Amino acid sequence: MSHTVTIEPLGARFEVAEGQTLLDAALRHGIYLPHACGHGLCGTCKVQVLEGEVEHGDASPFALMDMERDEGRCLACCATLLGDAVVEADIDEEPDQRPIPLQDFGGRIAALEDLTPTIKGVTITLDDGIDFQAGQYVNLSWPGLAHPRAFSLANPPGEAKLIELNIRRVPGGEATGHVHERLRVGDRVTVSGPLGRFFVRKSDPKPLIFIAGGSGLSSPRSMILDLLETDGDTRPITLIYGARSRSELYYHRDFVELAERYGNFRYVPALSEPTPDCAWEGATGFANDAARTHFDGDFRNHKAYLCGPPPMIESCIRTLMKGRLFEKDIYTEKFLSAADASQQARSPLFKNL
Ligand SMILES: Cc1cc2nc3c(=O)[nH]c(=O)nc-3n(C[C@H](O)[C@H](O)[C@H](O)COP(=O)(O)OP(=O)(O)OC[C@H]3O[C@@H](n4cnc5c(N)ncnc54)[C@H](O)[C@@H]3O)c2cc1C
Repeated sequence: MSHTVTIEPLGARFEVAEGQTLLDAALRHGIYLPHACGHGLCGTCKVQVLEGEVEHGDASPFALMDMERDEGRCLACCATLLGDAVVEADIDEEPDQRPIPLQDFGGRIAALEDLTPTIKGVTITLDDGIDFQAGQYVNLSWPGLAHPRAFSLANPPGEAKLIELNIRRVPGGEATGHVHERLRVGDRVTVSGPLGRFFVRKSDPKPLIFIAGGSGLSSPRSMILDLLETDGDTRPITLIYGARSRSELYYHRDFVELAERYGNFRYVPALSEPTPDCAWEGATGFANDAARTHFDGDFRNHKAYLCGPPPMIESCIRTLMKGRLFEKDIYTEKFLSAADASQQARSPLFKNL
């Protein structure tokens, strides 16, 4: 049993299975609807139902108020259809996005590596190859996990059956705790992807700044390797990476070598809490401090890609805006967990909410 939905103003029509959410069906048909938390908490995927009826599922009353429900609004990540429907969504044209349908892949853990004391490198061999744009993420799950968790792809596209994830342990977190404590080479997992709109706007010729914190290095690694090694991109590319201590700095040698090999690539690691024994001679402070110092506080005529924990992203947006770089040139991937998914997915400093 399924129902037909039409998405306006695109005029796109597709089938939505019984119990399938509107968002899931759209993404599986290669149609991007804005979304963030995926669990009815943040409200990013709010759409207007023009015709037909929906069931609201787990939409939180804060993300979707009673008045909005009465006005025919729903959250696409939770809403299921009760009949054929017409829905209006706010969809930005994105010329650099390749419409790759969301798919499910079976996979097996091929390798596990302690990249830092808190970040695990997880390599998965998929049964079938996955197509994705560098910077995108996947939803990872395994038998017994109540709902999947989002992790960005750390490898560049190309090795279609092999994917790499960098997974930071969240204190008290069920899924990341499992990855760090119990996951073993050979275990079966399910990967759904690709997801997200965090990818390089390659059609724009401006120099690129990547700013990452913690396991937020995953997406920039994929994007930078794709630009330098696959595309042979010659634009200036700068990676500012913030970690707490020397032991939390990972892929360090790889990025140092990449900067030696490519004259257009700069790598600026910064430690916020360097210990005396690590004899650190590089930048100190947070990633946004290192970015300000490196660019002398002037970010004009760049494209910036920010990836990592929400507080780091907000500090970086503030620093970039003070340095005259604004919303249309800043792209973010916030590593939200269940604890912060109910908070604003977009920066309050951005106008296009
Ligand atoms: C697009 C995207 C990409 C991401 N990519 C990466 C990546 O590449 N690498 C990476 O390390 N992380 C990434 N993340 C973050 C990652 O998805 C989370 O860290 C992960 O989902 C945490 O799962 P968990 O089960 O371990 O913890 P959760 O179940 O999310 O719990 C985390 C903590 O919050 C508490 N908590 C749970 N629910 C609530 C609540 N409602 N209110 C208050 N507290 C609560 C829990 O007790 C626990 O302490 C990404 C996130 C997004 C959205």
